[in-house]
Amino acid sequence: MKFDCIIIGAGMSGIAAGIRLAHYGKKVCILERHSREGGLNSFYSRGRFEFETGLHAMTNFVKSDAPKNSPLLRLLRQLRIPYEAMKLREQNHSLIKFPSATLDFTNNFADFMDSVAFAFPAEADNFRRLDAFLTSFNELDLALKPESARAKVSEFIKSPLLVDMLFCPLMYYGSATENDMELGQFVVMYKSIFKEGFCRPADTGIRLLLGLLFNRFSESGGELRMKTGVKRIISREGAVVAVETDAGEILETAAVLSSAGLPETLSLCDVPDPLYPEPEKSLAGGLAFVEAVSMLNDSYELKNDATIIFYSLNDKFRYQAPSEPYSLDSGVICMPQNFRFRQEDFTPGKAFRVTCLANYEKWKNLSAEEYYDLKKATGKAAFENAEKLAGISGILDNSAMTDIISPLSISRYTSRMRGAIYGSPIKRRDGLTHIKNLYLCGTDQGFLGITGAMLSGITVSNLYLLK
Ligand SMILES: Cc1cc2nc3c(=O)[nH]c(=O)nc-3n(C[C@H](O)[C@H](O)[C@H](O)COP(=O)(O)OP(=O)(O)OC[C@H]3O[C@@H](n4cnc5c(N)ncnc54)[C@H](O)[C@@H]3O)c2cc1C
Repeated sequence: MKFDCIIIGAGMSGIAAGIRLAHYGKKVCILERHSREGGLNSFYSRGRFEFETGLHAMTNFVKSDAPKNSPLLRLLRQLRIPYEAMKLREQNHSLIKFPSATLDFTNNFADFMDSVAFAFPAEADNFRRLDAFLTSFNELDLALKPESARAKVSEFIKSPLLVDMLFCPLMYYGSATENDMELGQFVVMYKSIFKEGFCRPADTGIRLLLGLLFNRFSESGGELRMKTGVKRIISREGAVVAVETDAGEILETAAVLSSAGLPETLSLCDVPDPLYPEPEKSLAGGLAFVEAVSMLNDSYELKNDATIIFYSLNDKFRYQAPSEPYSLDSGVICMPQNFRFRQEDFTPGKAFRVTCLANYEKWKNLSAEEYYDLKKATGKAAFENAEKLAGISGILDNSAMTDIISPLSISRYTSRMRGAIYGSPIKRRDGLTHIKNLYLCGTDQGFLGITGAMLSGITVSNLYLLK
């Protein structure tokens, strides 16, 4: 048996690519090492609770009558998923909170313009000019040369505080590099977060989204093998001919599309990339995160209606790996019940999620007891800090259950080196590798987040596998 394409990974990019290829009659098989689909954007159960691992919010929200080339509509069209099936509900509003200023944004960009003008009157015109530049920028050009986003944004905005406030959400939701972003990546995030905005599928959230995708894949004739890791990509004369699974099975294929990440994929190849003979050392990302999640008692009234709060405790925002196991200096607070749900929706249980930067190395070699204690201390500190920022109290006293998603959980369940959610700082925008018919999609192709990952899977499939 020989496949037209084997896809490594049943995360958002892998499944989107799989649907696309299956629609066109390709014999496609997705191999996933974990026992659950979704990759970084998945869920797990503890007692009567379901914890989500990704999905604070889907970015790129637009209404169904928006221009047809909007990323979300393009994505749904290519996957043949009706807009209404996603049951997307918009955010209430979100905040960027720094000690000297707060900005407020919704899915209506004019609100953000007003908020910037109110907090930074001297920058109102500069921000308008920056927005005009970013809006006309073609971030989808696969041949874009890397350029510093900080340098470019600072050509327009004079206030270092406003520059940092603009960077904070965009870096937290998609930067694999410390303190600066590549301009094309910045524009992707700027448009998807500020110009379009946040939404969430109603009812079961992530599960609704995953259900739609995996049903579409199997209806289209695709094959999915769970608990089937790839341990080796086998090539002959510079071209992939097969993969070997963790169990030792050899599966022949005409092409491989990997969503596992750049260093992770290169380390599977039987012929090393001459540029990166030791991929883990030279390519693995250094930015890891920890997330504290509380499932709140139904009776607890969460007295804050913001959907997401991005914060920094200092006006100078630092986005870099901390020297300690975690740092609360900046972070993201997500309250998933604060979307505009409708009466007919089955609303999710109340939750409170706090994400901040972490140091993978400090979590790596702990004993079971030390690991447990660190998780407990992280949760307590993260919730107490977030309560102050959100102006609420009683999270821990009203938690029916809490859990911590550590950098180790990420590497264990997604095989991401060093738990780096946003992957390698080196991206392969064209999706090509040193092996002819081995392609990359997802995080390390450079389109991040849930929508970005799916678009990446579609783009790479259209470009190389459906021609
Ligand atoms: C806590 C958290 C919060 C987030 N919040 C948001 C958010 O609010 N909005 C947003 O848009 N994004 C969010 N994200 C990011 C988003 O989930 C990811 O960017 C996106 O899901 C990445 O998809 P991917 O397909 O590129 O990679 P992955 O999801 O990493 O998929 C890769 C898959 O490959 C599998 N794999 C790896 N190696 C092998 C192998 N050798 N053999 C077989 N299988 C293998 C992995 O198990 C995994 O399932 C969040 C992520 C986390 C962890």
